[in-house]
Amino acid sequence: MRFEYAPAPESRSVVTLRDSYGLFIGGEFVAGSSVFKTISPATEEVLAEVTHAGPEDVDRAVAAARQAYERVWSVMPGRERGKYLFRIARLLQERARELAVLETMDNGKPIRESRDVDIPLAAAHFFYHAGWADKLGYAGFGPSPRPLGVVGQVIPWNFPLLMLAWKIAPALACGNTVVLKPAETTPLTALVFAEICQQADLPSGVVNIVTGDGSTGQLLVAHPGIDKVAFTGSTAVGKEIARACAVSGKRLTLELGGKAANVVFDDSPVDQAVEGIVNGIFFNQGHVCCAGSRLLVQESIADELLSALKRRMTTLRLGDPMDKNTDIGAINSRPQLDKIQELTASGEAEGAERWSAPCPLPDRGFWFPPTVFTGVSAAHRIAQEEIFGPVLSVLTFRTPAEAIEKANNTPYGLSAGVWTEKGSLILWMASRLRAGVVWANTFNRFDPAAPFGGYKESGFGREGGRHGLEAYLDVLGGSDV
Ligand code: NDP
Repeated sequence: MRFEYAPAPESRSVVTLRDSYGLFIGGEFVAGSSVFKTISPATEEVLAEVTHAGPEDVDRAVAAARQAYERVWSVMPGRERGKYLFRIARLLQERARELAVLETMDNGKPIRESRDVDIPLAAAHFFYHAGWADKLGYAGFGPSPRPLGVVGQVIPWNFPLLMLAWKIAPALACGNTVVLKPAETTPLTALVFAEICQQADLPSGVVNIVTGDGSTGQLLVAHPGIDKVAFTGSTAVGKEIARACAVSGKRLTLELGGKAANVVFDDSPVDQAVEGIVNGIFFNQGHVCCAGSRLLVQESIADELLSALKRRMTTLRLGDPMDKNTDIGAINSRPQLDKIQELTASGEAEGAERWSAPCPLPDRGFWFPPTVFTGVSAAHRIAQEEIFGPVLSVLTFRTPAEAIEKANNTPYGLSAGVWTEKGSLILWMASRLRAGVVWANTFNRFDPAAPFGGYKESGFGREGGRHGLEAYLDVLGGSDV
């Protein structure tokens, strides 16, 4: 049965957009060298003008962070730092609706996801790390671990505010100051976060936000005044950053791409597995580094599972991300849509079979329908490369050993999923999957207390949990490059 839904649009009026936004340096919004425009990927309308930070702007931001580090933040007792983090967490909650709407406008993701996932998790990260600020001596890194200094952080566009929280909350809790560069296509929630720092009376220079494109990121990570670099984004840029930081004495953590296997055994409840597969690959349009982009299904249930999956996919609602009933929003940018189109074309050219859910695409904006490829072999590009879109590649296996071999057969190792009723099989698989996170009978679950990070070309270092603190403290055994 097909349900008809009346429109349920969230109100844009909860957001007051400025015409233009400056850089946030030393506690104030300041002008920079040039400007660029940020658009809504769902409508292509210009939302605001944002400042592009050049070399002098990055210099100023790093100097402000250094001063704040030396004079205020590194010498402040942890319990006092914690109070600021708690205050920021509460302000994120108070302004949650505004932030969710703004995130959806700038990113294109469904309001249901920004409202229920991105913003609550961002606040949770600040609450969690606020609790650590005065307990670092009990975190297992010696009695009085020291901060590293000034941290340069570069984040992507898929979870703009949440990635900011993953970066800034632990850095500040550990006594570091930061200069953060948000992605060019999604700078707006980071700039509202800057307002929140002002509201929280955070000492000037503890958080600095420099907007811009990849060249601003390059300036930041190569800056000699930075003690540590934290990056989330593509593996190609991650490698470039690793080279730029080599032999500089800077600490480095990289959270890069993924090509996760979601492995479904023949004893799993099919309907539950289908929900997990849909959540694994279609959540956030598949713009998720740990997305379950490869479905490995046991051969004996492949036909049954694929029919159920396609049936479920026909019920997904694609369209206006501001509508509370929308499941699939817009692709974040034209270049990202081009990349998805190029990779899916290669899938067909290499002999895989494409099936897309029959949903009409809006005329304006960037859109791609939820799509499944069958007849995929491990050598196909769509089985090896990160598509970063709502595209699932399906492979089959017969035995657990074959599942492990196929699951591990990519350059990545960020996450994986296992679906079976047998606890012993879950443990057997989890101990052999080369992935930083393994979900069992669920997918895409996040918690600030759980460390997240990769193996192989998915990067190194962990974010979240006690392990994540290590990346921001001067402890033996860190990932110096
Ligand atoms: P990038 O890795 O290019 O971007 C991530 C961040 O790094 C952005 O803030 C970007 O700036 C910045 N950046 C770009 N080049 C440099 C550089 N040389 N030095 C320092 N910082 C830099 O990802 P894209 O947005 O270009 O996406 C390309 C592909 O990367 C996607 O198709 C997807 O496959 C993958 N990706 C993976 C992510 C993950 O979480 N694993 C997240 C995002 C993308 P700006 O965007 O402003 O130019």
